[in-house]
Amino acid sequence: MPQILRRFAAYYRPHTRLFLLDFCCAVASGLLELAFPLAVTLFIDRLLPTGQFGMIALAAVGLLLIYLVNAGLQVIVTYWGHMLGINIETEMRRKAFDHLQTLSFGYFDNQRTGKLVARLTKDLEEIGEVAHHGPEDLFIAVMTLIGAFCIMLWVHMPLALMAAIIVPLTAFLTTHYGQKMTETWQALYGRVADFNTRIEANVGGIRVVQAFANEEHERRLFARDNSQYRTTKLQAYRYMAASMSLTYLSMRFVQVIIMLAGAWFVTQGSLSAGGFVGFLLLVNVFLRPIEKINSVIETYPKGIAGFQRYLNFLDQQPDIVDRPTARPIGRLDGDILYRQVGFRYGSGRSVLDGLNLTIRAGEMAAFVGPSGAGKTTLCSLLPRFYDVTAGAISIGGVDIRDMTLKSLRGNIGIVQQDVFLFAGSIRENIAYGRLDATEAEIREAARRARLEEVIDAMPQGLDTVIGERGVKLSGGQKQRLAIARIFLKNPPILILDEATSALDTETERAIQASLAELSVGRTTLVIAHRLATITRADRIFVVDRGRIVEEGSHAALITREGGLYRRLHQVQVEGMASLLEGT
Ligand code: ADP
Ligand code: MG
Repeated sequence: MPQILRRFAAYYRPHTRLFLLDFCCAVASGLLELAFPLAVTLFIDRLLPTGQFGMIALAAVGLLLIYLVNAGLQVIVTYWGHMLGINIETEMRRKAFDHLQTLSFGYFDNQRTGKLVARLTKDLEEIGEVAHHGPEDLFIAVMTLIGAFCIMLWVHMPLALMAAIIVPLTAFLTTHYGQKMTETWQALYGRVADFNTRIEANVGGIRVVQAFANEEHERRLFARDNSQYRTTKLQAYRYMAASMSLTYLSMRFVQVIIMLAGAWFVTQGSLSAGGFVGFLLLVNVFLRPIEKINSVIETYPKGIAGFQRYLNFLDQQPDIVDRPTARPIGRLDGDILYRQVGFRYGSGRSVLDGLNLTIRAGEMAAFVGPSGAGKTTLCSLLPRFYDVTAGAISIGGVDIRDMTLKSLRGNIGIVQQDVFLFAGSIRENIAYGRLDATEAEIREAARRARLEEVIDAMPQGLDTVIGERGVKLSGGQKQRLAIARIFLKNPPILILDEATSALDTETERAIQASLAELSVGRTTLVIAHRLATITRADRIFVVDRGRIVEEGSHAALITREGGLYRRLHQVQVEGMASLLEGT
């Protein structure tokens, strides 16, 4: 707990001056509040009996001045205090987002998007809520409480002691309900994450939902989450209602006691009439911070729970980082070597095992093999989306872990089967390949990817918005956009992972031409489902169960009796033939 508070306090450090300003004004404002009951006592007991209206008027003016000052202080506390909170919230959000960018594929493989979104939105909102009100809220509440109590003691000690019974009473309520509240808010957070995940998946997959006509099923799942959320939230409000009304009741109870006892002391002559009225007003000032503390126990646990999750997230170390000795490298144009490479996802079973291969610079190397053999995996080790768990990969004789991630990835272009496009314009999506590209360069990339006709046919040309994930484009058009991006990036190494597998034969042929042009002068790793597309590769690796089982040119592999490549090839050729025969 002190650890978490220390880390929370660290966010205040850059804003020390703002904090002090806010803090001092809040304390001053709290103290001024104490002036009013004292003034009333003096007014009734001293001023009123004299009958001097001049003095009375003067006192009124003085009081007005005090309130004016207090109003000014409150403006500062409200505006600058919130500014402090917003500054902290903004900084935390920036940090969280920056951190998100550093996390590796392995992390995202095991995360729910909704949870991550909640972390950057709802969590920070709740932390911000605490930060806005600042720790000074609590401090001021305690200050006013003590201040009022001292004056009460001074005015009438027995009465003050009677009023003090409220403190243990509310302290009990606070601790009793505070714990329950914290637990409930934590549960509620889980519910919100469930919600977000469900909505995300539903919106993202709405086409699948409707294609399977599973709307009713989705509705049921959502209704379940929705009602769980309701139940948890109601629980929170039950506690809140109980704690609020019990606190209210105990405060009023104390007030009535004070009224009774005070009246008795007045009749006994140990308390003046002015003192009695002033005391009642003081009791109000005394009780207000108690109400405040009560509201604090509602918001603070939420904020602290959120802050704890925020810290856990920040403490999540990225699996893949630059070695301290890593150096930026220029254009990578050496041979690619995999030496005894082994790999497993997380703690799963081994996916690659003792894999060796060499790809000469500028060559086209093709990977074929059954689905699940590990082709995608072995290619994703090259840009270090995952790190090898055994062995090493080097390019031009340098271990890829000795290069900075940024420079390594800057040297590799990837076109995959499913292209991810952002919900902007065609221009923005092409320019993602190189953010500082000029208009002419973007157009040139589009031309080389044979995207020009598509663009010309669009109503707004390059500025046409293509919808979320590019839904307004056909599969072939999306691939062309992905290719244009790589033309713009112009990396020396290219990975084509089943780039055309999802396309019809005609489109595939057209895209193949663009890919052939893209691969000119680049070391290319191509994963192909249809063997016909890789016959001209310089070298073909046949992958099976995480190992290279055959290697050679198409011509060599096809003649190998009993070879896996030959078998795969036969299946495809025969399959094609039987399709053509219509059998
Ligand atoms: P291929 O591309 O040859 O079809 P992959 O490299 O995609 O095969 O997959 C190889 C194996 O690794 C498969 O058994 C697959 O289930 C597993 N795998 C792939 N991606 C992940 C991942 N992100 N997390 C865990 N296992 C994975
Ligand atoms: Mg694959």
